[in-house]
Amino acid sequence: MKTDHLVLYHNIDQVLTLAGVARKEGRRPEEVDLGAIENANMVVNSETNLIEWIGPSQKMPVEYGEIVNAYSGAGELWIPELIDCHTHLVHAGDRCHDFALRAQGKNYQQIAQLGGGISTTLRATRETPLAQLITHAQNELERFQRYGVGTIEIKSGYGLTLESECRMLEAIRALQETSGVILIPTFLPAHMVPPEFKGKADDYVDVICREWIPEVARLKLASFFDCFIEEGFFNLAQTKKMLEAAAGFGFKLKLHADQFTSLGGVELGVQMGATSIDHLEQITDSAIRVLANSATVGVLCPGASLFTGTSYAPARRLIDAGARVAISTDFNPGTCPSRNLPLMTTIACAQMQMTVPEAIAAVTFNAAAAVGLESNWVLWKWVNTFACAT
Ligand SMILES: [Zn+2]
Repeated sequence: MKTDHLVLYHNIDQVLTLAGVARKEGRRPEEVDLGAIENANMVVNSETNLIEWIGPSQKMPVEYGEIVNAYSGAGELWIPELIDCHTHLVHAGDRCHDFALRAQGKNYQQIAQLGGGISTTLRATRETPLAQLITHAQNELERFQRYGVGTIEIKSGYGLTLESECRMLEAIRALQETSGVILIPTFLPAHMVPPEFKGKADDYVDVICREWIPEVARLKLASFFDCFIEEGFFNLAQTKKMLEAAAGFGFKLKLHADQFTSLGGVELGVQMGATSIDHLEQITDSAIRVLANSATVGVLCPGASLFTGTSYAPARRLIDAGARVAISTDFNPGTCPSRNLPLMTTIACAQMQMTVPEAIAAVTFNAAAAVGLESNWVLWKWVNTFACAT
């Protein structure tokens, strides 16, 4: 048998395949669903990057014993590579001043009214040329990789003009060409109403639907469309209009919903077949039932609650109801300047009453589902940082 293209990793202490999690579509993951294999061997096809065989070392088919490229995994625990399914990684500037205001007791909306919040990042990002955005984001990507993250969703939303939104999405496209990380680009023009449209949110929504969505679709710059439904940002009717327009142009849908107030975003997102609805700190019991009865993934952002001192999403109630729950960093310069996805799983266990199997599923299989990749997620080697979550 020809084995030049195969690589054998043998005697890995333990591999988690999450086979049972996948069978259950990520709902109510338990320890048995992690699919732990002790003293495992794994055969990887280096041409396709696919796993050809995985199982206990004593059961490996004899022909794989001829593989020359062999490495020991003794002393290591392998789990599927991590997926961060909600980030605002491409941006310029920082928001240290916001943190200082928050420490004085100001909340998200008050900071926004004082000219901080997204507006600060908006000004900095608009003024930053493409090359500089790429360099900054490349550095950030490398920091994510150190935490075992191999797939990252990245949103626009700090430009809020067609030109600057496209520049952010072009930065993601350029990064995809040079980076080994799989990037999922999301168009988020409805992150806030930009200064040019102050007091004219309906006009802004009109422009997004009539001009921006068709243009971004034509340029094929994003696979998802996202919108922030929240008091002082976009209401239910405006959100519905944008989601319908985006779906009409073939975008898959995401939503920032129920972060500070519950405006019916979950019900709308599920009805529209959104791939994920994110945040959910203020989700109602009836909305939990709606989400649990759908294929839509609920993406929780514990880092945002930690940094803003606000309540965590009700992970326990969501999972017990049968919802598919993922965890992300929500990495952004304001409300969660942390790239540490493993830390988010620790917070989920320590503060949100999630179990370890639920947390593992939330940053692997369910995170893959939240970016539409559940059918082709990849196993990768990750050894160092898991201890902090267990
Ligand atoms: Zn976000």
